[in-house]
Amino acid sequence: MKILVINCGSSSIKYQLLDADSENVLAKGLLERIGISGSKLTHKKGNEKFEFDKDISDHTQGLAMIIDALRDEKTGVLRNVAEIEAVGHRVVHGGERFASSVLLDDEVLREVEANNFLAPLHNPANIEGIIAAKKILPTVPHVGVFDTAFHQSMSEVSYLYALPYALYRKYRVRRYGFHGTSHRYVAERAARLLGKPLKELKIITAHIGNGASVTAVKFGRSVDTSMGFTPLEGLVMGTRSGDLDPAIIPFLQEQEGLSAGEVNSLLNKESGMLGLTDRQFSDMRDIEVRASEGEPICKRAHDVYEYRLAKYIGAYAAAMNGVDAIVFTAGVGENSPYLRANVVNGYLGYLGATLDVEKNNCRGCEIIITTPDSRVSVMVIPTNEELVIARDTREIVSKGLKELKLWED
Ligand code: ADP
Repeated sequence: MKILVINCGSSSIKYQLLDADSENVLAKGLLERIGISGSKLTHKKGNEKFEFDKDISDHTQGLAMIIDALRDEKTGVLRNVAEIEAVGHRVVHGGERFASSVLLDDEVLREVEANNFLAPLHNPANIEGIIAAKKILPTVPHVGVFDTAFHQSMSEVSYLYALPYALYRKYRVRRYGFHGTSHRYVAERAARLLGKPLKELKIITAHIGNGASVTAVKFGRSVDTSMGFTPLEGLVMGTRSGDLDPAIIPFLQEQEGLSAGEVNSLLNKESGMLGLTDRQFSDMRDIEVRASEGEPICKRAHDVYEYRLAKYIGAYAAAMNGVDAIVFTAGVGENSPYLRANVVNGYLGYLGATLDVEKNNCRGCEIIITTPDSRVSVMVIPTNEELVIARDTREIVSKGLKELKLWED
C-alpha cells in the first residue's frame, strides 16, 4: 500500500511517499516559501535530488506540484496518481478529543478545527493542508496523526496546572505535551532493542532537536512530558526558554513596556540557547564546538541546557519510581556524543548508568551506549515520525477503522 505522508506548515509542505508494506521510502521532499516569492521544491528519489523553483500561491497548488514530481517520468516513482491509496497527515493539536489517530471525515475535521484555539500557529496550517489534499486526492482516505495524542494517557495529576480550576473548565488550560509520535516510536524501538515487552518497561525518552521534550513512558503509556499547554514549557531549547517563573512575564511587560504578544515572541524566538549565548547562536553545532573548546559563553549555555535535561530525567525516574532505559533522539539527541556524555557522566551515575565511550561516539545510529553491566540502559534511537504516520494510516485503512486505540483500558 503506497501512502503519502504530509506535514504542512503555514508556508511549507514536508512529504514522504512510503510503501507501507515494505516500509521503504520511495520519495520525499520539502516545498518551502508557499505564498511568499521564491518558492522552492526539493525532491528526492533514492539518492537523486531535484530542485524546482516556481512561485506557489497556496497549499493546493503546492500539493499539485508535489504530485507532479511524484509521477514525472524523470523524478517520479508513480505511473499513476491512483497508486496512492491513502494520505497520512501530521496534525499538531488534537486537544482532549483525540487520544489516537483518526480517519479524517468531514465531521472529524470539524472537531479538529475546534482545537485551533489551542494551537493557533500550527493547526490552521495543518487543516489547510488536509483540505488541499482532499481536493487533490478526493477518492482516497485521509488519516490524522496528532502530536498530542500519545500524551492523552497522562493522568490529571500530571496534566493539571495549579491554576483556578475554572480556567481548565472554561479554556481547557492544562498540559498536553507534543512530539508524541516521536516519543511513542522511540519507546517502542527501545523495548525491541532491549528484547523486552514495552508493557514491562519504564522508559524516559528525550527528543532533543531545535524544539525539545522529555517523556516518561511507563509500561507503554506517556505518564508525563515536559512540554505543556504549548511547546514552550520544559527544557531549554534552540530559541525557547522552557520553564521559568511565570512572574517574570508581568515583570518584563512592566519594565520593558512589552505587550503580551511581544513577551510571547521573546520567550519563543529570542530565548533558549539564542538568549543564553547573547543572541549569537541557536544551532547546537555552533554552540557545541565552542563549548567543548571551553569558550565561556557557549560553555555556560551548554551547562544550563544539560542541567535542565538532567533535572527532568531525575524527575521522571522519580515519577515512575524507577527507570530501565533512557533514549536520546532527534537532531541533537541522535547526533551529539558530547551532550550524551556530559549528561550521562555528569548526572546519571546515581541511576547506575555507565557510558561506553566508544559506542557513544556515533551519530544517527540505533545503539545502546552504556556498558552491559550498567543498571540503566542509555540508548540512541533515530526517530521516524513519518513511519508511524504511515503505519497508523495503513492500519486504519486496511482494518476499516474510524479511530485507532493506542492502549488498552
Ligand atoms: P526540529 O525538528 O525541532 O527543527 P531537529 O530534530 O531537526 O529539530 O534538530 C535540529 C538541531 O539538531 C539543531 O540545533 C542542530 O544543530 C542539531 N544537530 C544536527 N546535527 C548535529 C550534530 N552533528 N551535532 C550536534 N547537534 C546537531
